[in-house]
Amino acid sequence: MAENENSERLDFVRQIVADDIESNKWGTDVATRFPPEPNGYLHIGHAKSICLNFGIASEFNGTCNLRFDDTNPVKEEQEYIDAIIKDVKWLGWDWQDRLFYASDYFEQMYEWAKQLIKKGVAYVDDMTPEQIREYRGTLTEPGKNSPYRDRNPQKNLELFEKMKNGEFADGSKVLRAKIDMAHANINMRDPVMYRILHATHPRCGDKWCIYPMYDWAHGLEDSIENITHSICTLEFENHRPLYDWFLDELEIHHPQQIEFARLNLNHTVMSKRKLLQLVREGLVNGWDDPRMPTIQGLRRRGYSSAAIRNFCKTIGVNKFNSTIDVALLEHCLRADLNKTSSRVMAVLNPLKVVITNYPEDQTEELDAINNPEDESAGTRKVPFSRELYIERGDFMEEPVKKFFRLTPGREVRLRYAYFVTCTDVVKDAEGNITELHCTYDPETRGGDAPDGRKIKATMHWVSARHALGAEVRLYDHLFNKENPDQVEEGKDFKDNLNSDSLKVLNNCKVEPVLANAKPLDRFQFERMGYFCVDPDSSDGKLVFNRTATLRDTWAKIQKQQQQKKK
Ligand code: ATP
Ligand code: MG
Repeated sequence: MAENENSERLDFVRQIVADDIESNKWGTDVATRFPPEPNGYLHIGHAKSICLNFGIASEFNGTCNLRFDDTNPVKEEQEYIDAIIKDVKWLGWDWQDRLFYASDYFEQMYEWAKQLIKKGVAYVDDMTPEQIREYRGTLTEPGKNSPYRDRNPQKNLELFEKMKNGEFADGSKVLRAKIDMAHANINMRDPVMYRILHATHPRCGDKWCIYPMYDWAHGLEDSIENITHSICTLEFENHRPLYDWFLDELEIHHPQQIEFARLNLNHTVMSKRKLLQLVREGLVNGWDDPRMPTIQGLRRRGYSSAAIRNFCKTIGVNKFNSTIDVALLEHCLRADLNKTSSRVMAVLNPLKVVITNYPEDQTEELDAINNPEDESAGTRKVPFSRELYIERGDFMEEPVKKFFRLTPGREVRLRYAYFVTCTDVVKDAEGNITELHCTYDPETRGGDAPDGRKIKATMHWVSARHALGAEVRLYDHLFNKENPDQVEEGKDFKDNLNSDSLKVLNNCKVEPVLANAKPLDRFQFERMGYFCVDPDSSDGKLVFNRTATLRDTWAKIQKQQQQKKK
């Protein structure tokens, strides 16, 4: 527990766990679980739950299981199981040999259901789903008893077995708990435990024609695995009495359910159902589209698992629902990438520069620092020659106030290279700038002037002859609105999609050292942001995703100037 003793106050979940250890409440080690339903890919919200459950286990010397809550065969697929396993691993957590499936417990659950029937606290109901809904009542009105509620246990057992054997049609019968149709908590009004579903299960095939409902199944799964703390999101607070009721009626191991606030992020949606819609309707390029809040999307975008774990630590855990600004996620990302990513030079919107007083056939290899935050990353050689590319935005023929970069007659520093002065602007027939002519000062090699003269701007560049071509994909928020679910009548969240969330630049020029870059390698393109190699890259073609921008003070100045003009 060393980690806890050193750190700030424990969050309320960890405090409960610490108190339980103190009082030896469980008599065993702490046991948590992460229980995804394999009906979609994991997203950043799941990461919060993963880091909480696995984090507690590791901090308190306990264990955390990975358990697939695969109780609804209609929506579940092996593809999702595989992706979830990959993602939890990538996030850096280890369940050792404790990978479980709720479907492995179906037999035991069935036996327990029969036990409750015999006890007279569960019954088979023939009402239709519509009738059941109608009889349930509302928040202000009590429900009504089903006419089948007082069937005798023997008859219920018979019918339940026939349900299991597939003798009834889907929806024609259910098994319900017999609790109280007037209960103030609607979840306690004889909730459904089993429904009939003639569906093929990814793991059980056609063995089962009945499937357990979440509220019935979940506590049993926790109990079978000897979980001590069953941590879930706040929506389940109202379900806790039911969780407790089933376990009490069965008199089996009874974990403590603890609810915390789910993660919401602005400018995105976080429900698997909605994410699936975006994928199915082709509104994004798959679950791992770099704009998606999925773990695979974030990874492809260039997020490190350390950054995501750090984010989860930073936001903490509490009892109140709120929305986190995605800027905080990016902040955690930058903090990590700043320490870990190699710097290179890349020009996204190239403008050719000819150094007219530099020898035609000469190439110099200049020393460049790979990572100023990490000396061990070393240095590399960057080729310099007579023709270069600079960023089009780094030149202004008629500079506005506070523009310190290249402009006719002004001297700037080329990073690691020389001071250059712009002497000529070459244009085509339409007046577009096609290239710049500059002269360089040979005395300033490496970027320092012997006379110590001051230079306001340092610019990045690449040697035209040595540069590699690249495609660069720039991303923006997937949704315009902070809360995409806020819509006018007749519209839905998809109407809030940002049509400019992806911008592709085809003519980028990058340093030759990137020829060796592998998919998902991360870099800082100096002054331009953090980028990573997209898996779409192939031998002849480099594709980069912009992971995040650097903090852009120029944009701020521009904004202030625009405001002044108004
Ligand atoms: P979604 O609402 O996205 O469909 P879900 O809750 O149906 O998610 P599950 O597969 O059941 O998805 O989730 C597995 C675990 O992850 C659950 O314990 C759930 O509480 C947790 N979880 C899901 N979404 C979030 C979130 N946004 N923040 C924190 N935890 C989450
Ligand atoms: Mg769920």
